[in-house]
Amino acid sequence: MIDYHIHTSRCRHAVGTMEEYLAEAEKKRLLEIGFADHFPVELLGVQPDHQVNMDAGELPLYLADVARIKGMASMPVKTGVEMDYLPGREKITAELLVRYPFDYVLGSIHYLNGWDFTHPGYTGEYAGKDLGLVYERYFHTVEKLAASRLFDIVGHLDVVKKFGFFPREDWSHLVKRTCRTLAGEGICIELNTAGWRSPVKEQYPSEAFLAACLAHRVPVALGSDAHRPREVGEGLDRAVALLKKIGFTEVAVFERREIIMLPLNIL
Ligand code: ZN
Ligand code: FE
Ligand code: FE
Ligand code: ZN
Repeated sequence: MIDYHIHTSRCRHAVGTMEEYLAEAEKKRLLEIGFADHFPVELLGVQPDHQVNMDAGELPLYLADVARIKGMASMPVKTGVEMDYLPGREKITAELLVRYPFDYVLGSIHYLNGWDFTHPGYTGEYAGKDLGLVYERYFHTVEKLAASRLFDIVGHLDVVKKFGFFPREDWSHLVKRTCRTLAGEGICIELNTAGWRSPVKEQYPSEAFLAACLAHRVPVALGSDAHRPREVGEGLDRAVALLKKIGFTEVAVFERREIIMLPLNIL
């Protein structure tokens, strides 16, 4: 099994030491792991109400910690990061990303016009909104994320469903349009098992999305979005079974920001 989405306590909403995350990965005999903690958005010029990322000064320490864990591990440990895609900040994002030796960068959307719609403290805002418009805006932002060509993997692709708010009208055109764009831009997506732990109780992205990704040949990487050690590797057996059922035969890994496809049947 492979887990490319592991957080650390530096982001202030995950717990446990990196040694504990590694120990869990060793216990579950994962084939390869990657840490992908939240990049400091302050460096992108943003000051959120509620900080959910490491401090700017912690980034070098995070990189050193990943290197230290690499030295202790029996499996490959990759240096990843989860970066917020902030429309309008592409240039500074590009300048920052080249400074660090990441193996892969997850591009994630947690904010829409400054609203942290993935944060349990701000779910009240869904009530007053036209959910069709929220979905339209979210997936339009995903397309812009892909078109920016800044990232290797789209993090939790349909996380806008996290709290179980869905538009009343059919939104399957957004699935088709988004997957077409992802394919055109050559970006990979993540099958993120944290959805099963969230109120919606469904992996990110939905089966319809995964099937559309397969049809458009958009590669898939695997992640648990672990915020505590026991979550490392969680749900990934089920995720791989789902990928096989849909018809996938390969999964993506990265090295120095180059994609490598591995056969699913070795997991
Ligand atoms: Zn987080
Ligand atoms: Fe995220
Ligand atoms: Fe994450
Ligand atoms: Zn996350």
